[in-house]
Amino acid sequence: MQFKSDLADAVGNTPLIKLRKASEETGCTILGKCEFLNPGQSVKDRAALYIIRDAVERGELKPGGTIVEGTAGNTGIGLALVGASMGFRTVIVIPETQSQEKKDMIRLAGAQLVQVPAVPYRNPNNYVRYSGRLAEELRRTTEAGVIWANQFDNTANRQAHVEGTAPEIWEQTDGKVDGFVCAVGTGGTLAGVGMALQPKGVKVALADPGGSAVFDLLQNGEAKAEGTSITEGIGNGRITANLEGFTPDMAYKISDEEALPIVYDLLEQEGLCLGGSSGINVAGAIRMAKELGPGHTIVTVLCDYGNRYQSKLFNPDFLKSKDLPVPRWLEHGPTSIP
Ligand code: PMP
Repeated sequence: MQFKSDLADAVGNTPLIKLRKASEETGCTILGKCEFLNPGQSVKDRAALYIIRDAVERGELKPGGTIVEGTAGNTGIGLALVGASMGFRTVIVIPETQSQEKKDMIRLAGAQLVQVPAVPYRNPNNYVRYSGRLAEELRRTTEAGVIWANQFDNTANRQAHVEGTAPEIWEQTDGKVDGFVCAVGTGGTLAGVGMALQPKGVKVALADPGGSAVFDLLQNGEAKAEGTSITEGIGNGRITANLEGFTPDMAYKISDEEALPIVYDLLEQEGLCLGGSSGINVAGAIRMAKELGPGHTIVTVLCDYGNRYQSKLFNPDFLKSKDLPVPRWLEHGPTSIP
């Protein structure tokens, strides 16, 4: 019999898919790691599982205990589902600007949802800082233990990628991977995969969206954060503990104008229904392919499922309100149907 012992056991071991158009355009083999096929439909299931397991191993969480976290959404979904499968409650703090679909999914997954205004990290009511305080308050009244998952500075997050994502990529490519590229939210994926694959000779690149300071911090130590982006879950204004000690070989600043057409093409032409951060990542992979030249194998991350963004990324009215071009098929239906 072949079965997983529980939902947590079904996290990871995602396939790599060749991205046809990106590969043809560059003469490279560009491969997407299908993290949207995790049980919670995102890469963050991996971090959620490692953070929970680590807390259980350290004796901080016992059956019936509570996990508190500030998240742009995907970590909340991962923590709620993996947490439920292991017998824990979850309380999720989210900036109110995140997509309604993610908020609905967090509630559906059984978590208690607290919405706060989207304010920068320096503001004490920022979702991350708010969630840390909430965990402390709940700790006083909950006997089974309360943890603050603290995905940004808890390196159990990065470890999920050192031990999971990176060896999977290495094995799936028979060690023939030349480059890896992705964006940074917490930095767990980039630094975890990077730390494991860089010593094997793989070039590792950051793809940074508008509004994020990571590119500038790495290039010249300044947090300038120019531009904006409608992508969710990526971009950061500081070097988190997960990023500390890691330096990418290359870095690319990617605009929404460059990334979003890739998301729409991948759906229309390759059947891949993805969120905006996957577009930033694939755009980064194309840039890296152009820099390395034809014949290389480059892996990037397809972070989450596109159905999470129907009200924004796939909504013509929303795109128009942001002065972003509306893809033809989104307005008129698929071009392939006469
Ligand atoms: N894409 C999406 C959609 C995400 O939610 C996240 C995590 N917030 C990331 C990418 C970035 O992953 P990481 O936190 O490992 O940097």
